[in-house]
Amino acid sequence: MTELTTIPVPLATNPYDVVIADHALDAAHGHIARYARAGRLLVVSDEAVWAAQGERLTHGLAPVEALPILVPAGEGSKSWPALISLVERLLAIGIERSDHVVAFGGGVVGDLAGFAAAIVNRGCGVVQVPTTLLAQVDSSVGGKTGINVAYGKNLVGAFHQPVRVLIDPSCLDTLPPREVRAGYAEIAKYALIEDAEFFEWLEANGSAVVAGDPAARTHAIAAAVAGKARIVAADERETTGVRALLNLGHTFGHAFEAAAGYDGHLLHGEAVAAGIVLAFNFSAERGLCAPADAARVAAHFAAVGLPTNRSAIGCTATAAELIAHMGSDKKRKAGRLSFILARGIGRAFVDDAVDLRDVESFLSRATG
Ligand code: NAD
Repeated sequence: MTELTTIPVPLATNPYDVVIADHALDAAHGHIARYARAGRLLVVSDEAVWAAQGERLTHGLAPVEALPILVPAGEGSKSWPALISLVERLLAIGIERSDHVVAFGGGVVGDLAGFAAAIVNRGCGVVQVPTTLLAQVDSSVGGKTGINVAYGKNLVGAFHQPVRVLIDPSCLDTLPPREVRAGYAEIAKYALIEDAEFFEWLEANGSAVVAGDPAARTHAIAAAVAGKARIVAADERETTGVRALLNLGHTFGHAFEAAAGYDGHLLHGEAVAAGIVLAFNFSAERGLCAPADAARVAAHFAAVGLPTNRSAIGCTATAAELIAHMGSDKKRKAGRLSFILARGIGRAFVDDAVDLRDVESFLSRATG
């Protein structure tokens, strides 16, 4: 029998489990049939995921029927029109409050289907069955759902915790390698935030994780999910600052993504990888962490094939342009912005008031 790891997310009002098991899709009935109503589950997925993995889920769930509701693959599905269309399709099928929506896909499907479940019938349950590495270690856990609007990414949404997250690492066998590497950046992020020992393990095993070695991959996913579960349980709604640690590398990363124009040529995880390297270099420049630690982070990302600087992600924006993309005016206070910095590997912290002039000067001098 496949080994099964259960990681509790111990929230005060809506605790749930993340279940990780290789080939869980083929035994989906045992894992999630209990969430079916009238013998069926409403499965929201995207066309590419359904083509690659839909049959496995359908067979694994039988005799419960998996009723697929498909959206186009890609970030464009996190939009008002896609949300309206999805909610109306769920209503047309006759969704009731005791139904559960199964979000079967990457972060796009998880965010869209999770938000639809949060609002249809004033809220239905959602089961997250993530199929990208990024979604398995990050977006499926923690309850953030939403869509993008003209004012920016993820600006409309809801906290809507799933009732269960079911992770089958073998789903990743059909995921393009570049998407696997991008998801890996988020795994390394947890290690860099709070777990130096896990980072050492990744230095020894990261290439095996990225190459799809089943044991290494499952171990890394479980360790990352445990990290996310701890942080989310400590700060479910991002009110105490603990959850903000998950933004390590993201302030720089979001600026890279905004400069790239969200046209799909730069993946989120790639922007985050380059952003994490910059966050460590910036920390080293400020005397917060040893330059050797920053060098270790860059060396590890390079070893697994992730970009470590701006030229590697094709970013030609100037320092001033990147600063303009960092945080909304609302988030800035008197030219200062909150940044996640590090005192070393596994020792990230929130600096609430970094002077943007320091960041701009650092960016204009940083090579690559
Ligand atoms: P994605 O959902 O767009 O998936 C990437 C691509 O891989 C898509 O084309 C998809 O069709 C395909 N795919 C997915 N699984 C597959 C599989 N097993 N086999 C073959 N193809 C497969 O991208 P993503 O990186 O998973 O998610 C990105 C989104 O996640 C962004 O919108 C981001 O804002 C969001 N996100 C949300 C949170 C959160 O806490 N809610 C956290 C991080 C990111």
